[in-house]
Amino acid sequence: MINIVIFGPPGAGKGTQSERLQSHYNLVHISTGDLFRAHIKGETKLGVEAKSYIDKGDLVPDSVTIGMLRDKVEDNPQANGFIFDGFPRTTPQADSLDALLNSLNKGINVCLSLQVSDEELVARLLNRGKTSGRADDANEAVIRNRLAVYQRETAPLKEFYAKQDKLADINGVGTIDEIFGRLCDAVDAH
Ligand code: AMP
Repeated sequence: MINIVIFGPPGAGKGTQSERLQSHYNLVHISTGDLFRAHIKGETKLGVEAKSYIDKGDLVPDSVTIGMLRDKVEDNPQANGFIFDGFPRTTPQADSLDALLNSLNKGINVCLSLQVSDEELVARLLNRGKTSGRADDANEAVIRNRLAVYQRETAPLKEFYAKQDKLADINGVGTIDEIFGRLCDAVDAH
């Protein structure tokens, strides 16, 4: 079983590369952002709550996010492994993910951290906003808030995985194929 965290700021390419990694390693891809967007579309209670945070570029509270992630892992008992995309984003989320996987006698193999400059990220997200239909991609102030939230709440988690010798820093600039090659080299080395 291989369990991968794909890590990085909004716009770093986590979703694109997760699709490739999912089929290459035969993993179940769990994107908490995609799960929230499905709840919003379905107008569920969870979706209504999450939308108020997502539209501002803030994080959805851990109490909501952790339960949703746990349900999704438990829905896939036969999985060959998971790729966690956009989760964890806070220290309590990282702790709860370790606890959940430990309870299944599993763990994270590697945290792939995509590195992209802020200016490149803003340009990529504004460009994506033209077609993604995502309100949080269309507004530069919301994008800048998402980057600030990432720096404040999420970037410190690199240390969490570095301490466990699981952090791989990956240059996130280049063609999709080049970056995918770098990610596979890091997965295969862990
Ligand atoms: P993403 O698709 O990963 O860019 O996530 C879009 C938005 O969903 C984020 O800006 C947050 O508002 C929310 N979100 C996604 N994943 C999480 C998470 N692990 N914890 C809290 N909020 C999240």
